[in-house]
Amino acid sequence: MTTATGRFPDNLATVCMLQLDILTAFAICGAGALTGAALLRPSLAYDMASAEVLRISRGAYALIGVGATQIVLHPSPLPLWSLATLSYSTVSGLAVMAWAMAALSGGVLSRRLLAPMLAVLLLALLAVLPLGVRGLTWFVAWGLSAASLLVVVMGRRLVLRPRGLDETFAGIVILITAVSSLLRTIYLFTWDGPYEPHLLHVPPYMHSPYALMYGVLSLVVIMLVFNILGSRLQVKLRRRATTDALTGALSRPAFAEGAAQLLERLRSGKDRLAVIIIDIDHFKQVNDRFGHAGGDAVLRMVAALLQAQLRPEALLARFGGEEFVVLAPVADVPVARGVAERLRCALAEAQWDAIVPGLEGVTASVGVTLLEPGESVERALARADDALYRAKHGGRNQVQIGLFAA
Ligand code: GH3
Ligand code: MG
Ligand code: MG
Repeated sequence: MTTATGRFPDNLATVCMLQLDILTAFAICGAGALTGAALLRPSLAYDMASAEVLRISRGAYALIGVGATQIVLHPSPLPLWSLATLSYSTVSGLAVMAWAMAALSGGVLSRRLLAPMLAVLLLALLAVLPLGVRGLTWFVAWGLSAASLLVVVMGRRLVLRPRGLDETFAGIVILITAVSSLLRTIYLFTWDGPYEPHLLHVPPYMHSPYALMYGVLSLVVIMLVFNILGSRLQVKLRRRATTDALTGALSRPAFAEGAAQLLERLRSGKDRLAVIIIDIDHFKQVNDRFGHAGGDAVLRMVAALLQAQLRPEALLARFGGEEFVVLAPVADVPVARGVAERLRCALAEAQWDAIVPGLEGVTASVGVTLLEPGESVERALARADDALYRAKHGGRNQVQIGLFAA
C-alpha cells in the first residue's frame, strides 16, 4: 500500500514503531538468566577469584531466572504475588551481581553483607506491598537504581581502567544498566497515568529499547563473564608455559622462540648478539647453610638483579638450577664484556643480608661471547660455557670471554 503521493507505505509508522511486549522481554531475560545459572559452573574456574565470580553470578541468575520466568505460568494480568516475586528477584538479583562485579574487578565486598542486604530488600518489598502495583513500581525503580549504582561502584575498575575489549564491553554494560535504571526512576517522577502491571513507566517510544535491553542483557553478561575469565586464564597459562615459576625468567622453549625473533630483528641492523652464561658461585653452600627456601630466595633475587640491568629487548632465561643465560644486542666484544661485567657487579654488590639474614654475599662466574654470523645459538652457548669454565677455574667471581676461532 502506498499513499496518494506514492512515496511511502501507509503503514510505515507501524513498521518502524515495532512494539516489543515488556512482560515477554522479562520472561526472555529470565530464560537467559536460567541459562546463565546452568552454564556458570564454579567447577569451570581455575582459581578462587574466578570460582567466586561464577558462584555469585550463578546465584544472582538463579534469583532473576526463577522470578522472571514464573510470570509465563500465569494468565495476564499477573496476580500481585507474582509481580512481587518478579520485583524482588530482579532487584535482589542485580544487587547480588555487585558481589560478582567486585570479585571480577578485584574489589572487596564482604560476603557477610549479602544476607542482610537480601533481608532488607525483602522487608522493603513487604512494606510497599499494601500499595499494590504502585508500590511495586516504585520498589523496582528505586531498587534497580540503588543496585545498579552498587554494581558501578564495585565494578568501577572495569569502567575506568578496562584491560582488553571484553572488560571495556563489561564496563559499557554496567553503565547502560545504571543509566537505564536511573532513567526509569526519573521518568516515574513525572508519571501521572495509572500504574501498569509491567511496572515500567517510561514513554511508549522507550518500551521497545527497554524490552530489547532486558531481553538480551542476561546472555550478554554471561558471554562477557566467560570471555573475561577465559582470556585471564589464557594469559596465566601463557605465562606459566613461557616463564620459570620460581624466578620469572624465561623457560628454555620460550628462550629459543625469543632468540629466533631477536635474531630476525637484528638481521637488518649493525648490532651483534652477546651470549652470556651466568653461574652462581658455590650455590650448593647457600642451600646447605640456609636451606632450600634460602636458596630459592637467592635465585629469585639473582633473576631480579640481572633483569634490572638489562634493556627491554634483551632476554633472560633460567637454564638450569643456578645457571642463567642472557641474550643482549651489543655493538662489539668490548660492549658485550661491559654488559657481562655489569651483571657480575650487580650480584657482587647487592645487599644479600636483607634477603637472607646472615648471608654475606653472592657472586657469579660469567662466560660471554658474540654470536657469529650464520652461527647457531647453541654453538655460541657452548663457547660461552667454555669461557664460564675458565672463569670458575680462574677463581670465580669474574668474566671470561669466548673468542671465535674460525
Ligand atoms: P660452582 O661455584 O662450581 O658453580 O658451585 P655450585 O655449588 O654453585 O654448583 P653445583 O652445580 O655443585 O650446585 C648447584 C646447586 O644448585 C645444587 C642444587 O641443589 C642447587 N639447586 C638447583 N636448583 C635449585 C632450586 O631450584 N632451588 C634451590 N634452592 N637450589 C637449587
Ligand atoms: Mg654454581
Ligand atoms: Mg651450575
